[in-house]
Amino acid sequence: MAPTATADAVICGAGIAGVSTAYFLAVHEGMSDLVLCDPRPPLTLTSDKSTECYRNWWPDPSMVSFMGRSIDLLENLSDESGNAFNLGRRGYLYVTGGGTAQLVTAAAQISDAGAGSVRVHTGSSDDPSYVAAEPEGWATHPDGADVFAASEPLTEHFPYLTGAARGATHVRRAGWFSAQQLGAWMLDRARERGLALRRSRIVEVDVDKDRVTGVRLDNGTRIATGVFINAAGPMAQGVAAMTGVDLPMHNEVHLKLAFRDSLGAIPRDAPMLIWTDPQRLNLSDEERRLCVEEGRTDLLGEMPAGCHCRPEGGVDSQWVLGLWEYHRDVREPVWPLPTDGLYADTVLRGLATMVPAIAAYLEDPPQSVVDGGYYTKTTDNLPLIGPAGPTGSYVCGALSGYGVMAASAAGELAAAYATGSALPDYAPAFHPGRYDDPAYREQDAGAIDTGQI
Ligand SMILES: Cc1cc2nc3c(=O)[nH]c(=O)nc-3n(C[C@H](O)[C@H](O)[C@H](O)COP(=O)(O)OP(=O)(O)OC[C@H]3O[C@@H](n4cnc5c(N)ncnc54)[C@H](O)[C@@H]3O)c2cc1C
Repeated sequence: MAPTATADAVICGAGIAGVSTAYFLAVHEGMSDLVLCDPRPPLTLTSDKSTECYRNWWPDPSMVSFMGRSIDLLENLSDESGNAFNLGRRGYLYVTGGGTAQLVTAAAQISDAGAGSVRVHTGSSDDPSYVAAEPEGWATHPDGADVFAASEPLTEHFPYLTGAARGATHVRRAGWFSAQQLGAWMLDRARERGLALRRSRIVEVDVDKDRVTGVRLDNGTRIATGVFINAAGPMAQGVAAMTGVDLPMHNEVHLKLAFRDSLGAIPRDAPMLIWTDPQRLNLSDEERRLCVEEGRTDLLGEMPAGCHCRPEGGVDSQWVLGLWEYHRDVREPVWPLPTDGLYADTVLRGLATMVPAIAAYLEDPPQSVVDGGYYTKTTDNLPLIGPAGPTGSYVCGALSGYGVMAASAAGELAAAYATGSALPDYAPAFHPGRYDDPAYREQDAGAIDTGQI
């Protein structure tokens, strides 16, 4: 007979989604008899591989509200913890070498959804003033966005960008923080309120008369509970299958390069820099021939938009993170992660289009490390948060490439569902039940602007 414990709620997965859900249940909803299960140490799978960036700037209005709430919570937690997780607000600079008219239109639409006001800079004497970001902290920084609709004011403030840059949008309520430190701080607060952490895998969910009654762990223990929250990240689909639910999600490989920028190509106070145009790699005839020989013709045509980077660490650090998802690799999650031997070289080439000084590394490659994880996604690239399956069963997942920035609002929302608290206006947009509608399931995912980078 398996030993039995009881809990008011059991959370599956101690990534940032599960930790945040535990924090909101324990600290804000006052649920003390809580268990968080994970065979891995907390925050060590996907949540450890992120670029740790955040922004309130999204094409979907429900995402603007949701991320606005998540950033409100992050700022409150930063105040409460003495900024234990180093929240900064240098912004995201979306740079283009193309037309600038659409920058103003797109910014106005996102601003109308509640993301803050837009200031347009054309280089004329009546331009609004541009307030440069402080390298640290967030409280005194502007919000909304500064749109550079001409190259002169842009290169005046960001002289390291290519002369081909024609304009940019500097999103201001954006930046990065330490996801590990945030998660550790939340976990400590939840444990002070009674959260128990179990280093075990959940292998079964017991359901009786369409109601969750307990979970079983790989060590043989059964925990009797009426509330089960699936925050299993890339494994959430397999975990949902334990309750007979088919979650509409898939996993995409996303790699990340860290390189030592010993030449100082990226200034230490730079914001997140994103090249928003498709591009072709600058390859010599010999390099093209080698690509063909090695079966890498994927690198020879037009490459997608979205190559991006940011400085990592303080002023004394030389490290820079660079990312570019130039081929979509959807698969069942496996580890070690499938990698790409040419990733570092390709990302550096892509970044050199935006910041020419990086080209020096193509001849003399820098010290570098490639890691990454999975973006666990739905076709609309919106999360799945809410009830799924038998009564008492919930999911907090499909957090794609934004789970670290969304975790606070996602955990708060999952906790509100589990306790029957009032739900925010954006809740229906993320309810898993939206996929019960066959028309919604069959929508053309490729036609949706999801804001993914
Ligand atoms: C390269 C890269 C860059 C990214 N950059 C950003 C960024 O800049 N900003 C941002 O906001 N987001 C970013 N993300 C996305 C972000 O990292 C994820 O959305 C987030 O970490 C997902 O958190 P999670 O808790 O859902 O999943 P995970 O962190 O994967 O945690 C899931 C946990 O569930 C556990 N688990 C699974 N099955 C079971 C089981 N049966 N029983 C018990 N436990 C189980 C696993 O062991 C794991 O610990 C990035 C992701 C990648 C890969």
